[in-house]
Amino acid sequence: MVKLIARRNTEQQETTKVRVGDVIIGGPQLVVVAGPCAIESYDQLLSTALEIKRLGASMLRGGAYKPRTSPYSFRGQGESGLEVLSQIKTLTGLPVVTEVMDVRDIERISEVADMFQIGSRNMQNYTLLTEIGKTRHPVLLKRGLAATLEEWIYAAEYILAEGNDQVVLCERGIRTFETYTRNTVDINAIPALKELTHLPVFLDPSHGTGRCSLVSPVALAGIAAGADGLMVEVHPQPDLALSDGPQSLNFEQFAELIERLGLVSKAVGREMT
Ligand code: PEP
Ligand code: MN
Repeated sequence: MVKLIARRNTEQQETTKVRVGDVIIGGPQLVVVAGPCAIESYDQLLSTALEIKRLGASMLRGGAYKPRTSPYSFRGQGESGLEVLSQIKTLTGLPVVTEVMDVRDIERISEVADMFQIGSRNMQNYTLLTEIGKTRHPVLLKRGLAATLEEWIYAAEYILAEGNDQVVLCERGIRTFETYTRNTVDINAIPALKELTHLPVFLDPSHGTGRCSLVSPVALAGIAAGADGLMVEVHPQPDLALSDGPQSLNFEQFAELIERLGLVSKAVGREMT
């Protein structure tokens, strides 16, 4: 029985507002979170943060602890990446979201991050969900690679069951038979989750497509379908990125996305900063 996140049969009928610093997710405002897949250097993160802020993003993303399919790929800078994230956050004033993969890192990451990201590969890590639920930190819970909506909803329920209702659900594509794209974005999930739950819903078109040329059109589709915001990977030089370069937008492409987002947000009655 899903108890806490159901929109019906609970006292909570309105979309929950998730507060990350001054940013409110789940209100009239569309929230754009942008930044590199991984924190690679001070200059990389600073230049990206300044540019996305200038263009209207309200939060910065960047991974210090990266879940990689191969253990021989770049797995993030760990503690030194967090240190860079903390400096850039202070410099720019942007709230930051970063992934937590291990319960042992929760405390340290909570000193820097304004929001925890729980990645696809950990959507059913019930120990992690429970421990994150005990904090009062906002959480971006990504959909598992092959998770049904029901499994995803129950994963969120683990967090709410511990008393933390500051959860945003993020569709990031699922695995299908299609191989041209890295994943297949399940647009259905956006209105379905809005119907089933009172939590805000985000779309990550970067992991959802795996191709920078497809990121903008799919992002717009997500907003048209009712998403409360986007998480987009942006890198100063995608060709040189240490992870997820092919799906990362450069600054110019991100600027174009923001411009087009202005038009779609107007059409669906949402506000942009
Ligand atoms: C990421 O956001 O860089 C990431 C690893 O995402 P996901 O967990 O959706 O694969
Ligand atoms: Mn990534």
